[in-house]
Amino acid sequence: MKNALNHLHEFCALVKVFGSYPTKGVLLGDVKQFKAGLKNERNTVKELRLKIGIVGFGNFGQFLANTFVRYHDVVATSRTDYSTIAEDMNVTFVPMFDLDAFFAHKLDVIVLAMSITSFEKIVTSAIIPALKKSKVEKLLIVDVLSVKKHPKCVLLQHCIPSLDILCTHPMFGPESGKYSWNNLPMVYDKVRISRQYVCDRFLSIFRKENCKMIEMSCEKHDQDAASSQFITHFTGRILGQLKLKHSPIDTTGFTSLLELVDNTCQDSYDLFYGLYQYNQNSIAQITNFQNSIEILTRRLSLMNPKNQHYAINQLIQNIAPSKTIQIHALTKQLEAQGNQIVSLCVGEPDFQPHAAILDATKEAVVQGATKYTAVGGSTELKRSIQTYLENEKHVKYDLNQILVSNGGKQAIYQAILTVCSPSDEVVVPSPYWVSYPEIVRLAHATPVIVETNVQDEYLLSVKHLENAITSNTRLLVLCNPSNPTGATHSKGQLEAIAAVLRKPSNQHILVLSDEIYEKLTYEVEHVCFAALPGMHSRTLLINGFSKGFAMTGYRLGYLAGPSEIVQKCTILQGQITSCASSISQRAGVAALSLSDDDFKAYNAEIIANMVEKRNFAHEKVSSIPHVLCPRPTGAFYLFPNVKYYFGKVTPSGTVIQNSEDLCVYLIEEFKVAVVPGSAFGDDNSIRIAYATSMENLETGLLSISKGLLLLASP
Ligand code: NAP
Repeated sequence: MKNALNHLHEFCALVKVFGSYPTKGVLLGDVKQFKAGLKNERNTVKELRLKIGIVGFGNFGQFLANTFVRYHDVVATSRTDYSTIAEDMNVTFVPMFDLDAFFAHKLDVIVLAMSITSFEKIVTSAIIPALKKSKVEKLLIVDVLSVKKHPKCVLLQHCIPSLDILCTHPMFGPESGKYSWNNLPMVYDKVRISRQYVCDRFLSIFRKENCKMIEMSCEKHDQDAASSQFITHFTGRILGQLKLKHSPIDTTGFTSLLELVDNTCQDSYDLFYGLYQYNQNSIAQITNFQNSIEILTRRLSLMNPKNQHYAINQLIQNIAPSKTIQIHALTKQLEAQGNQIVSLCVGEPDFQPHAAILDATKEAVVQGATKYTAVGGSTELKRSIQTYLENEKHVKYDLNQILVSNGGKQAIYQAILTVCSPSDEVVVPSPYWVSYPEIVRLAHATPVIVETNVQDEYLLSVKHLENAITSNTRLLVLCNPSNPTGATHSKGQLEAIAAVLRKPSNQHILVLSDEIYEKLTYEVEHVCFAALPGMHSRTLLINGFSKGFAMTGYRLGYLAGPSEIVQKCTILQGQITSCASSISQRAGVAALSLSDDDFKAYNAEIIANMVEKRNFAHEKVSSIPHVLCPRPTGAFYLFPNVKYYFGKVTPSGTVIQNSEDLCVYLIEEFKVAVVPGSAFGDDNSIRIAYATSMENLETGLLSISKGLLLLASP
């Protein structure tokens, strides 16, 4: 009898004992005591029955309410209409944050059970104003967020002193607390309590449910939670990405991993994000996690005796070597053996910098400009770049939006590393400059290659671009004019690309616009991508001095873009190379300070020279049977499609399978060096650089033509 009553009592404090007892009968022993206890308790409970309001009646809000209603009166409000569910639970529901009606219930306690991410906004823009309006001055405000320092700070900052604050974290949920809360941890911090009595009564719900009550500061909670709760969610989500599946050979350990995935992935992503974003300690945990993977992977790899001294960082191990450099090396090797090679493979102008630039270089040395400048570049050079971009390219930048680097390649590398994260996708039109995809991979992001083709003159199709875009797209790389094809997108074509990016669904995409060849355009006027409407704040503009001013060896480039990104790139550069060469920077100032007339005269001569070579080379290459080659409008490359010759046999009997085989054949047999298209993501073509002497060009193109025509069908 005693056990039965106790059991009933566990379920309901107000249990009454009905039954037909003999009227003159006498209750004895335990039963008599129980009846007396019940009488006292009934009085106490009546006294202490609280009115609890719950704000946020989602998953967790409902879960708490289910237990709260057993002891107290519960009123709930939420963004979604949960009135039917509430009715079933015996909870009064006030729809859609009608907080006036909510507070009209004369609440003793409100429990804030909304998502971590919406907490601050709801408190500041809805709850605090409603409390003021309803003139509520005495109330216990309880939060149940899974992070603690954040709600504590928000509540302390915004609640008037007479409002009590209790920060709690019931460390269980609808799954783990489905059957009982017995021994489940309930963390709380009495941040500011004047009405001890209400607070204790509220906490007693959890005591009665037999929770493990842990009084702990919010700060300590966040430290401990990052290394336990957050890491649990993080691990579950990582394993979720692996798409693990049951199999006939599941072990118990594996089954518990699947359970972990289920439990964590069922929770809202808002909750997961909240655990990360609103607990500083979580970020450190991710770093530790990543380091641990690397340490273990390395340890395993080092167990192989071969790797003991020469183990290579996995990231570096996976980088493809630049094929342009490989061909260059083969050229040097053959030259060292006494061969004369005509090189049509190097991406370098064959003209000298303007005399004023060379003079400024000498002066810089003589005047002792040999010390470090600021990491991001000397103010003098940054001002020159600023003026140049404003006057010539019609884009305005503040000095803190410009970073001078050791060549354009470093600017590209830093920009991609700064804005891209794992799981980000970077759209790279092909044929592409060799380094883009490798740099993207170095940033742990994924290159998404969008093909352009010879029939379209290697111009990016807007339709193909749209097909490649996903919600993970972070960046579009545009190289205009293009290395390796020489294609230059006109203003109209750039406008069409910008129109795609302006669509509401594509607002998350930035553009890395590599304009290093902008001074070498023929027939098509170069337009800076950042100058197009709406693109300034979304463009990472790359430019430099290598191509337009023939200053390749000076290693001087720059990035211009949003200050938030440029400043981070500057910090990164500070940790890699510091400033660009001080002497080169002085030369850069001289280049940009050339008078209009001086520059025009210098540039006009170069353009005339380039156009002559481009026309000559294009005519020769196009006249080779079955070679398709659009006439480029920029840079100094031709990118002919030579696919027709694949599968054919060389005079010595080798079958040419691809562009690499063809280039090796041409250099070994005809002593002309060109770069295989495979290096640029298009194996059907080769790249011919025509920035060389007319004599070289003539000999080289004749050799290519001979080489191709000697290939025979198998
Ligand atoms: P949640 O996704 O973190 O939060 C859902 C609740 O937040 C819903 O009531 C939702 O309202 C409300 N909400 C979200 N965004 C809102 C916005 N912009 N404006 C207004 N309301 C918004 O999932 P949860 O599991 O229910 O967790 C609620 C809170 O309890 C969180 O702070 C969490 O950290 C904490 N907690 C959860 C657990 C657990 O096991 N789930 C355990 C301990 C503590 P509507 O439903 O009306 O849209």
